[in-house]
Amino acid sequence: MTVRIALRRITRLYPGPATVPSIPDALLLLAGHRIVHVGSEAEGAPEFWTVDPTPVREINCAGCVVTPGLINAHHHFFQHLTRAVPAAMSASPLEWLFVSYPLWAELDPAMLYAAGRAASAELLLSGCTTTADCAYLLPQDDGALAAALMQAVGETGIRFHFHRGCMPTLEGDLEERLGAVMGGRVRTLMDQDEAVLCKRLEHAIDCYHDDAAFSMSRVALGPTGVTYTRPALMTRLADMAHGCGCGLHTHFHPRPDEDTKAAPDAPIQFLERSGWLRPGTWLAHGTRLQPSDIATLVRTGAGVAHCPRTIVRLGFGVAPIGSFRQAGLKLGLGVDGAASNDQGNLLNDLRLATLLHRVAEPPALWLTPEAALEIATVGGAAALDRPEIGRLAPGMAADVAAFRVDGLDCAGAVADPLGALLFAGTETRAWLTIVNGEVRVENRQLVGLDEGRIAADLNAAACRMLAQAKRATGIDFSKRMTVQDAR
Ligand SMILES: [Zn+2]
Repeated sequence: MTVRIALRRITRLYPGPATVPSIPDALLLLAGHRIVHVGSEAEGAPEFWTVDPTPVREINCAGCVVTPGLINAHHHFFQHLTRAVPAAMSASPLEWLFVSYPLWAELDPAMLYAAGRAASAELLLSGCTTTADCAYLLPQDDGALAAALMQAVGETGIRFHFHRGCMPTLEGDLEERLGAVMGGRVRTLMDQDEAVLCKRLEHAIDCYHDDAAFSMSRVALGPTGVTYTRPALMTRLADMAHGCGCGLHTHFHPRPDEDTKAAPDAPIQFLERSGWLRPGTWLAHGTRLQPSDIATLVRTGAGVAHCPRTIVRLGFGVAPIGSFRQAGLKLGLGVDGAASNDQGNLLNDLRLATLLHRVAEPPALWLTPEAALEIATVGGAAALDRPEIGRLAPGMAADVAAFRVDGLDCAGAVADPLGALLFAGTETRAWLTIVNGEVRVENRQLVGLDEGRIAADLNAAACRMLAQAKRATGIDFSKRMTVQDAR
């Protein structure tokens, strides 16, 4: 029997696109995994709804802003094991990687399972219904790590884009420097055998890629960073993804040294020549994109995932997302991994995205609350090439978030409910999160999952990772130390 849900007396419903008007005192009807009606209480339910004898679950959403489920376009679930590690808290991006890799080298299936459950649960609690996970650290994985990750995600019920990534090389001089700390184990971090790698990627596609509309599991491919030294591999990955209908994803905010590596092309041209730029490709960060780069991305249909908290945490430049939007770039929002976000809460990052770009852009480009919401919904769907999610409209996926705006934090902000949520609100949890027609968060609590157990399991796994890394390297990662100490 199709499950039907009616969200009644919604204080204000925001459909997703910034140009589509919001609806006060709204009514939203869901049947199974689809939205079947969006309107006002005054108009009432359509006849096909009222004549259907199937039972309806009614949820009173007075006091709530209702939006499409938020879409998280960039994450690294495994990094939930290394939040707020002292040695990595104030390190530059390269040094942050230097102190993090000896920890991440200890990753095993039980750890990744714990991290995957915690990361997914936190996203659901922040109103997120679809997430990508850039899982690039699976070099020795014979399938057990990926299976543990997929099991964890499946148990939480979030819609998932598994970026089955890889790391053919380490950045800068990290291989040499990490070798001094980790010995030969540093090589276990990298995917050096292309044939083995491609076999594993094909296996992941076979097991986890469902390209049907409303799919709960899609696979994307790509290395953690653009691999200029292996152009044939970049092209092979693009061809493989294209052949299977998978997405492509990597970090892209080219540093000056990448200009040299990509020569005679520019980095963006290297990507285009490698067959990477097309719909379904999305790139993390884009903080250093030039106007010509943005024009290339717009022309080819590739998108960008903006991760505001990471660019603050790691000291990247501020991405000019007002300019990105003005140029017509597909722009989504991401929390990025918890080693550089520490929180993993998409609602918080939506608030930060609304404000952060203002320090770098003129007021004419500043985001309205509706424009910010559009990035986290419609924009993320476009970047992930998922036309059936990210909007509240008949026929779209029943992915919905409701946030209370009747608490003390929003009191007095009555003129603009979405502005209240994003500018005044300090509550970090969605009141209700529905994924594919299933209620996953209700009254700010996970449904069917033990939140305390998830946290305890992750803490135990994180302690194990710290202890194992200490045994392997002699470094006590729980101590506040400088990078020089680690050397
Ligand atoms: Zn990242």
